[in-house]
Amino acid sequence: METLVKGYRNFLVEADRARYVALAEGQAPHSLVIGCSDSRIIPEAIFGAGPGELFVLRNVGNLCRVDDLAVTSAVEYAVGHLKVRHAVILAHGDCGAVKARRSFDEVHEESLRQWLGEEGGGGCGLEEAIKDWGKCQLERLESLPAVKTALARGDLETGLFYFDLETLRLDRYADGLWKPVV
Ligand SMILES: [Zn+2]
Repeated sequence: METLVKGYRNFLVEADRARYVALAEGQAPHSLVIGCSDSRIIPEAIFGAGPGELFVLRNVGNLCRVDDLAVTSAVEYAVGHLKVRHAVILAHGDCGAVKARRSFDEVHEESLRQWLGEEGGGGCGLEEAIKDWGKCQLERLESLPAVKTALARGDLETGLFYFDLETLRLDRYADGLWKPVV
């Protein structure tokens, strides 16, 4: 616990208090990000965002399972209620969830087997598999009614990114191609 409390003390010193006072009135994030629970993948850090800017859902493997209430409620709230303008999947290199799916015989935790069991982990290389995995999540995201409605109205843009840990490269998937954003 000491590590967390020490971290909080540092946060207090550095926090933009005026910003938090304003945010206490409500939030109007510009984007929904569905990312992985992986401790190395911090959407706010990668996208240079502060408090109030990103509505983030993180789970094991950045899944957008349409049969999971944690996923659908977050998407519906962000898109339907908060009216975010962007909804994106953030996939990442060395994703343990994809690796686990590719070595499924070695996964013994029952909840993890259920969570990952319906995912595909195929593809020759790991990066390709992770990127394909992300595409599947994007398709699911775009199939949700709230997202469909917002897309049809032109109120929302959906997207898919791949963050490479080692090089910090961020690839974006658009028009059937992966390209580095910078
Ligand atoms: Zn991951």
